[in-house]
Amino acid sequence: MYVDVWGGEMWIDVLKSTLKYGLAPKSWTDYLYLSVGGTLSNAGISGQAFNHGPQISNIHEMDVVTGRGDVVTCSLDHNPELFHSVLGGLGQFGIITRARIALEPSPQMVRWIRVLYSNFSAFTHDQEYLISLHDQPQSQKFDYIEGFVIVDEGLINNWRSSFFSPNNPVKISSLGAGSNVLYCLEITKNYHIGDNPKTIDQEVEALLKKLNFIPASMFTTDLPYVDFLDRVHTAELKLRSKGLWDVPHPWLNLFVPKSRIADFDKGVFKGILGNKTSGPILIYPMNKNK
Ligand SMILES: Cc1cc2nc3c(=O)[nH]c(=O)nc-3n(C[C@H](O)[C@H](O)[C@H](O)COP(=O)(O)OP(=O)(O)OC[C@H]3O[C@@H](n4cnc5c(N)ncnc54)[C@H](O)[C@@H]3O)c2cc1C
Repeated sequence: MYVDVWGGEMWIDVLKSTLKYGLAPKSWTDYLYLSVGGTLSNAGISGQAFNHGPQISNIHEMDVVTGRGDVVTCSLDHNPELFHSVLGGLGQFGIITRARIALEPSPQMVRWIRVLYSNFSAFTHDQEYLISLHDQPQSQKFDYIEGFVIVDEGLINNWRSSFFSPNNPVKISSLGAGSNVLYCLEITKNYHIGDNPKTIDQEVEALLKKLNFIPASMFTTDLPYVDFLDRVHTAELKLRSKGLWDVPHPWLNLFVPKSRIADFDKGVFKGILGNKTSGPILIYPMNKNK
């Protein structure tokens, strides 16, 4: 199953169009008002990447205008060098005019869960454990795994948390964590409207039981799949209304190997940042083989 889209199409429109057929792309970015050509020139990473790989791992074929002005169709089998160069190629190897994107049957609903940790190694252990379940075909698993670091004064008042109930503010000190830095694991379970709610509850409960988050720090919400995927747009509208969307938002993405992630926590989250930033810091696990 796939859809052919123009390079300038926005992901939100790809989603809305494919949903009409009960289908959707498998791998996403957190924000959907980005062009297909733009994210495929980078990677396209969100909480599904540990499972499906980034967006560039979910493309069957592309039409590319090369530096000579030729329109060339490329895929794994056909002009593979161009295919691999253009995906993640920062626009340096040609202009993507069409991409054939892999689809899957779309879920209708999402159970979206946030749990908190004060212990960084417990947090990374659980993230790594959850992504390892995808190598075990029979086991229950979550569909999306992300997380973020909370280093500011003590409010879990992240720019994307308005969906949750109780929705904020929550004082870090009220959780009895004994630390100024908290880590939030963010996970989802997809389902269909007709699914038995008890089965979903049981599956989620069984997965959560294996995790070591701070008891009583769980936030849950159920929402339509499209609202979940388009969640950052809600924050965008809020920021726009305050004139804050169009100010520069510098952003840095880093891949840190598992062997150094604890040093990174000590040196950067607890060391350099301390409680001196209120910007979002996402941290989520990837499978290298994806
Ligand atoms: C608010 C926001 C949230 C984001 N969230 C995520 C996220 O969750 N995950 C993630 O992976 N990324 C994320 N990004 C980064 C995003 O993937 C890149 O900024 C991407 O380049 C955005 O695409 P665009 O349509 O804005 O591209 P543009 O800014 O228009 O282009 C960026 C570059 O991509 C290349 N390019 C664009 N179109 C084409 C084309 N058709 N063919 C060839 N090259 C092309 C060009 O080199 C161009 O300079 C986010 C960006 C923003 C602004």
